[in-house]
Amino acid sequence: MNEPITPTTKIDYKSTLAFAQQMDEADPLKEYRSQFHIPTLEGTEHIYLCGNSLGLQPKTTQAHIQQELNDWKNLGVDGHFNGKNAWFYYPHFLTEAAAKVVGANTSEVAIMNALTVNLHLMMVSFYQPTPQRYKILIESPAFPSDIYAVRSQAEHHGYNADEAVVVLKPREGEHTLHTEDIVAAIEEHGDELALVMFGGVNYYTGQYFDLKTITQAAHKVGAKAGFDCAHAAGNVVMQLHDWEVDFAVWCSYKYMNSGPGGTSGVFVHEKHGNNLELKRFAGWWGNDEKTRFEMHDTFIPQAGAAGWQMSNAQVLPMAAHKASLEIFEAAGIQNLRKKSELLTGYLEFLLEDINLHAGEELFNIITPKDPQQRGCQLSILTKEENGRKIYEYIALNGVIADWRKPNVIRVAPVPLYNSFVDVYNFARLLEEGIGRGV
Ligand SMILES: *Cc1c(COP(=O)(O)O)cnc(C)c1O
Repeated sequence: MNEPITPTTKIDYKSTLAFAQQMDEADPLKEYRSQFHIPTLEGTEHIYLCGNSLGLQPKTTQAHIQQELNDWKNLGVDGHFNGKNAWFYYPHFLTEAAAKVVGANTSEVAIMNALTVNLHLMMVSFYQPTPQRYKILIESPAFPSDIYAVRSQAEHHGYNADEAVVVLKPREGEHTLHTEDIVAAIEEHGDELALVMFGGVNYYTGQYFDLKTITQAAHKVGAKAGFDCAHAAGNVVMQLHDWEVDFAVWCSYKYMNSGPGGTSGVFVHEKHGNNLELKRFAGWWGNDEKTRFEMHDTFIPQAGAAGWQMSNAQVLPMAAHKASLEIFEAAGIQNLRKKSELLTGYLEFLLEDINLHAGEELFNIITPKDPQQRGCQLSILTKEENGRKIYEYIALNGVIADWRKPNVIRVAPVPLYNSFVDVYNFARLLEEGIGRGV
C-alpha cells in the first residue's frame, strides 16, 4: 500500500463558506497561492482546477528565464561556463530538488527532453524483448501517447502490437483497477512479460496505483516495472528508489508548474544507472562531463540517470523548471500532500453532499474513495444527457476544469495555489448548473 500521510482522524467538514474560509485561515501553506499568477476573467480570479493539465505560472518564472536571456545577450557562448548559472552544468541545478519530489537519490534523476521522448528512451533500455519474453502490460484507459509509445516499441522490435501489448481493463461495471487484479495479470503473463508500464496516477480516473506492489509483482516474474508519473510527480508522495522501480518518467508542466511543453524528468534506479553496460541511445550530454567537450569518438556514459542525457541542456525551459522546483523545495512534498488530502477530501464531501440533498445520484465520482489510492484529482462522471452542459455552465462562470469524453469532468484542486474557498465555490456552481436543469 502507498504510505498514508495524514492520520486517519476524520475532519468534520461543513458545507458553508464560513467553514471553507476557516480552513484557508488555518492552512499553513496559504501564502503559496500569492506566489502564482491566477488567471482572471474581467478582473475576477478564475477557479482554476486544471493544474493536472497545465500548472499555473509561478511569479518567479519570468525572472529565472530573464536571467538566462541576459547571460545569452551579454556573454554569448561564454554563458556555458561563465554565466551566473553556467549552462554546461544547468541540469545539476535541478536534479536534487526533482529527486526529492519523486523519492529518489539525486543521481537517479535526469532532467531532459520531453515526456514521450523519454518514455521511448527508457524503453530502449528497459524493453529488450526476446521471443520468449516480449509482452508489455499497461492499464486501461492509458494516456494515448503512452499507448502509441508501447505499441510502436513492440512493433519496432518486430512483434504484433495487438498481441504484445496487454491492456488491463477495470472489471465489468467498474472504472478503476484492483491491485489484486493487476498482480494476477502480471502472474498470468509471467515469463512472457518483459515490462509493466503503468501511469503512476491514471490521467482519466485519478487512481494512484500501488507502485510498490506492482513493482514487486513484476520483479517476481522477471519483468521490469516502469511508470509514467506525469500525473503523479508533484501530486503524490512517491518512493521510487525504495520501491525499486526500474524507471519512471514525468513531465514538468502539469503539477510541476514549469510551463507549456516544459522539460521532462526521468528516474533510473541506481542498480541500473551504475550498470554502464546497459544498452541505451547515446548522445554527448550523457558522456562523462570531463571529456564531453574533447570530442572523442568513444562514448563514456556518466554513472546514474545522467548517462541517458543526449542533447545539451534546454536552458530556457529548464529555467522555468528551476523556478518551480525552488517552490517545491520550500513547501515540501509531504506538507503539500497533507494539505492535498484535506482539500480533495473537502471537494469530495461537498460533491457527495450535493447528491445527498438531491436524494439521487446526479453524478458519480469514479476516482477511488481511499485517499491512499488517489492524488488531488477527482473525476466526476456526469449523466450522459447533461454533462457537457453542466461543464459549459461552470466554465461560463469562471471555472477552469477539464472535460473528457464521453462525460467526465476532471477537477484537480492543487495544494500550492488552490484554496478551500475555491473548492467551495466550485461545488456551489456545479450544484447551480445541475439545478438549472442545464
Ligand atoms: C500529459 C501526459 C503525456 C503527454 O506527453 P508529452 O510527451 O509531454 O506531450 C503523456 N503521458 C501521460 C500519462 C500524460 O499524462
